[in-house]
Amino acid sequence: MRYRGREVGGEGRVHRVMESTLTARDRVGVQDFVLLENYTSEAAFIENLRRRFGEKLIYTYIGSVLVSVNPYKDLEIYSKAHMERYRGVSFYEISPHIYAVSDNTYRAMRTERRDQCILISGESGAGKTEASKKILQYYATTCPVTDHMSTIRDRLLQSNPVLEAFGNAKTLRNDNSSRFGKYMDVQFDFRGAPIGGHILNYLLEKSRVVHQNHGERNFHIFYQLLEGGEQDQLSKLGLERNAQKYHYLVKGCCPRVSSINDKNDWKTVRKALTVIGFHEEEVEDLLNIIASVLHLGNTQFGEGEDGETQITTEPQLTYLSKLLGVDGAALREALTHKKLTAKGEEMISPLSFEQAVAARDALAKAVYGRAFTWLVAKINQSLAFKDEMYNSSKGSSSVIGLLDIYGFEVFQHNSFEQFCINYCNEKLQQLFIKLTLKSEQEEYEAEGITWEPVKYFDNKIICDLVEEKHKGFISILDEECLRPGEPSDISFLEKLEDTLGGHAHFVTHKLANGKTRKAVGREEFRLIHYAGEVNYTVNGFLDKNTDLLYRNLKEVICQSDNQILSQCFHREEVTTQKRPETAATQFKNSLAKLIEILMSKEPSYVRCIKPNEAKQSGRFDEALVRHQVKYLGLMENLRVRRAGFAYRRRYEAFLQRYKSLCPGTWPNWQGRLADGVATLVQHLGYKPEEYKLGKTKIFIRFPKTLFTTEDALEA
Ligand code: ATP
Ligand code: MG
Repeated sequence: MRYRGREVGGEGRVHRVMESTLTARDRVGVQDFVLLENYTSEAAFIENLRRRFGEKLIYTYIGSVLVSVNPYKDLEIYSKAHMERYRGVSFYEISPHIYAVSDNTYRAMRTERRDQCILISGESGAGKTEASKKILQYYATTCPVTDHMSTIRDRLLQSNPVLEAFGNAKTLRNDNSSRFGKYMDVQFDFRGAPIGGHILNYLLEKSRVVHQNHGERNFHIFYQLLEGGEQDQLSKLGLERNAQKYHYLVKGCCPRVSSINDKNDWKTVRKALTVIGFHEEEVEDLLNIIASVLHLGNTQFGEGEDGETQITTEPQLTYLSKLLGVDGAALREALTHKKLTAKGEEMISPLSFEQAVAARDALAKAVYGRAFTWLVAKINQSLAFKDEMYNSSKGSSSVIGLLDIYGFEVFQHNSFEQFCINYCNEKLQQLFIKLTLKSEQEEYEAEGITWEPVKYFDNKIICDLVEEKHKGFISILDEECLRPGEPSDISFLEKLEDTLGGHAHFVTHKLANGKTRKAVGREEFRLIHYAGEVNYTVNGFLDKNTDLLYRNLKEVICQSDNQILSQCFHREEVTTQKRPETAATQFKNSLAKLIEILMSKEPSYVRCIKPNEAKQSGRFDEALVRHQVKYLGLMENLRVRRAGFAYRRRYEAFLQRYKSLCPGTWPNWQGRLADGVATLVQHLGYKPEEYKLGKTKIFIRFPKTLFTTEDALEA
């Protein structure tokens, strides 16, 4: 990894706040954890975070990694003036800030012509999405733009409220929780102006469409439409302005949230849709889909005279057929029957009450989920870089990617969703190891620097456990889902035991000696993740992985007049014999693609921490923070940074900046650059343990060595 932007000073502008002086340090802690005396102590680490948090200093570095603690209040540190302060200024000259990371990344892209990415991680409510928005705002405000490009800039910004409306929801942990993972590329031209963007979305939590836990809500868009939609619009959709009337909106008993103004948000979203370039008909089709989900939720079933399941809510069916643009009779039949093919003949068989409810919910989830994917695709079209004028410069454009994706999750009950999320975090950790730890060591080797190799846990073994062909977790899951007979979650668990039993990172309640392990339930398995142990309940794994929508429902929707639906459901799906990819395999493949994208870029990291569960400002719950410091791997991160060298600079740059401090190198050093640097640091009194000279660079172990030198320059 290159430690760009690590230089102190630059262009003669030194704004470094005096956080590094001793008295200030007592009060506000150190702005870079590598400066901690007792860097192996978790307690010292957390104390430093706490002190800074108390002084409203929410940002701290571990080398080039930014740690951010959610302040839960507006700190007024994101103004245009603040942005200006961070422009073109190097990392250590000024207080840590998300703008410093944004700016450094931008400059590295510009000067090194290498694609960059910023990986933001942390648990729900820690501030990932806010951080990614701040980065985007920084670029939108500080990068050069022409009139033409301002359209793209506005669309980039406006994509956020739209995606948040459809993909975010109020949860217990966060009033605006992203229920999907997001990776966004911002593309810049040779002048450094934003000219395009592209979004990839991951694993939308579709189950929320039909069910919410107590105290949680469905996706924002439903409430926004009901609160903010115009009366005649609602009438057309057959909706009432009252969320309480809709089964899918009241499961969590939480229609209103004090921090959310659905009516205003609706206005913002409507405007954003226009800015992004949605046509009126598209908006209408989209609203029809939103409304049809609500009508589906209110569609009830009962028993007919012959005991068959039938729809008891006729008005809903009428609205559904109108809004989904499908034949009412066909929809009625598809919601209450399934089509089977036996001995080459098609047969219709009635659904039980429970099956009909499940089919209805599956339809609601499928329709919403696919409309979300369509929405992302549509936004991507509008962000696509397509101006002919710039074709000639296409080759010289560069990209900054922003990853805002769910952090490691451990709940009381963990299911398929947590499994996917934690697997994703294993992959990102693997990437971190590959990009940071390995390459750090490779650079020392390339420069001929002797050093103590740092031990770190390589989690490849866990990634393999999950994704290996044939014998990995996902393969076993898929196999069980596709197996004829009556596969069940329990038979899946047994298969797991047969295949993975004895693996160092997989545990069930069965002990090798035939006894029972109490800490793992009979319907659970435990994975030993790099960040800790997690017990997963196996219930629901098969259903969630198959994500089945009955074929005849699909057939009906394929014929929809709704333009969005007809693009989302293709006829081939029902005509082909091929099994659709399972949810886990789809996720695995999309993660593999994401990792490939990230591997081709130079990474920066933002690690977000939530200070308390109450969403309150000023409260710092140490136990909660400790937990996150552990799961984010921050102590290991710091250990690796401290074991290595905090700064490295090419000889010519180092000489250029500091040559005036030594008569031997001033005004111009004539000899070999390495000798010049050696002369300079000898004169400055660097101790042998403080630095090493490589083939092309000087490596400085502690930032304070450089601070002292920088101070000398100022004196
Ligand atoms: P999730 O994984 O649930 O999506 P998240 O990490 O994306 O969570 P955010 O939505 O970014 O979390 O932040 C949660 C809330 O915390 C925000 O709505 C905002 O109120 C507050 N918050 C986060 N970061 C900041 C900040 N830098 N300044 C002020 N408030 C913040
Ligand atoms: Mg978020």
